[in-house]
Amino acid sequence: MKLTAFWQRIRRNRKNNGAAVVDSGGGNSAPKIINRSDHPLSRKDMSEHALKVLYRLKKAKYAGYLVGGGVRDLLLGLHPKDFDVATDATPEQVRKLFGNCRLIGRRFRLAHVHFGREIIEVATFRASHDQTGGEGVTKDGMIVRDNVYGTLEDDAWRRDFTVNALYYNIYDFSIVDYTGGLKDIESKTIRIIGDAQERLQEDPVRMLRGVRFAAKLNFKIEASLSASIKDNIHLLDGVPAARLFEEVLKLFLHGHALASYELLKEYDLLKHLFLQTAENLDESGDRFITQALINTDLRIKQKKPIAPAFLYAALLWPAVKCQAEKLKYDDLSLLQVYQIAGQEVLEQQLLQILIPKRFGIPMREIWTMQARLASRKGKRPLKLLPVPRFRASYDFLLLREQSGETQLKELCDWWTDIQKVSEEEQLAMCKKLSSGYSSKKKGKKKKSSTKVKSADHD
Ligand code: ATP
Ligand code: MG
Repeated sequence: MKLTAFWQRIRRNRKNNGAAVVDSGGGNSAPKIINRSDHPLSRKDMSEHALKVLYRLKKAKYAGYLVGGGVRDLLLGLHPKDFDVATDATPEQVRKLFGNCRLIGRRFRLAHVHFGREIIEVATFRASHDQTGGEGVTKDGMIVRDNVYGTLEDDAWRRDFTVNALYYNIYDFSIVDYTGGLKDIESKTIRIIGDAQERLQEDPVRMLRGVRFAAKLNFKIEASLSASIKDNIHLLDGVPAARLFEEVLKLFLHGHALASYELLKEYDLLKHLFLQTAENLDESGDRFITQALINTDLRIKQKKPIAPAFLYAALLWPAVKCQAEKLKYDDLSLLQVYQIAGQEVLEQQLLQILIPKRFGIPMREIWTMQARLASRKGKRPLKLLPVPRFRASYDFLLLREQSGETQLKELCDWWTDIQKVSEEEQLAMCKKLSSGYSSKKKGKKKKSSTKVKSADHD
């Protein structure tokens, strides 16, 4: 069956049944089962590795379902980012079936089956915590361990959003829908399963996930979820900083960065991830981040790589700039200003999001390179051209100019030109600039070219 014909049929059904489709009470109704002949999901669109895992589970007489983004995205005609599998085999049983398998996670024990670079995540059916007397739940209702196994039905109701709880059964290739996910995909709705307040309290990261899926799919966030995000937003501050690092990358590195940013601002979530940026976000900082994210989305569309360090450096730039402004009246060079401001901002940021050192170091380099690029005396520029962080720092400089720092135009053009010419001509460009310097200096009483106020303009 074709994708469009399938959705037409779902739309007709929804209209016939009225608008209220989902039993959001968290339970136990018969699932809708859509037979293979009545839906468009085809194995040729699925990862061969995910299929291998499913077939091996089936051969060993375990249940095997594709679930989550793999099913959701294929139904929308998109390429899934990864393929997740659900089964009734325990993680240990899964490990026995696959040589290339590792068990990971404490809060959530999972089997990762490795095929070169592709990892198929295999999760055992889980039950919700209220079915087990709340074991593994903190006083505030937050889930810290989630290893209570259950049935397929239990597993469906404990997932986050209805659109993520659709299962493709490897036994008969049918789709199983307990929570009304198909109708929510049709009406482009992100709806949390069960009581929104409770589900967000169990795991506040679901707020970010909801925003992420709304941004990625261009879906609306259903009203009770929207209201509950506003009520529970403070709970994000209790989420481990290491988990937030990964979530931020998922928000910004998959082609929907700008839409994610817009929603984070709309829901006032930005300050729970980047407090310093949110506090110092003026019009020009907003324009800078917007432009950075437009470029990020474009690069992803063109299948060009994105460095997480560049992304984080851009998201924190309004804060670094503001901190630098405060320092500029001290007797410091521009380089020192950016060194100190960068370090201070990063230290504060680590309290919210645990950015690993391998990204923190290049972020600070990108910021301090803004000062080095501005100071073009003698042959210094020739030493900068081959340094590893040059290209990212130059791109960052262009971004600043593009987003309103128009005084950087001459500097940007100069760096653009010098990359295009021969070594001899590069030397000539530097000499020409230095002669300009010395004649300017002669005309001035007091030298101030290393100080902040003049250095940004070189
Ligand atoms: P994508 O991979 O495109 O980011 P996804 O929906 O597959 O989206 P994953 O993070 O890969 O998301 O998770 C796989 C599935 O596991 C989800 O679709 C959802 O059903 C379930 N899941 C993940 N995180 C949570 C959570 N915090 N609470 C409840 N269910 C979750
Ligand atoms: Mg996934």
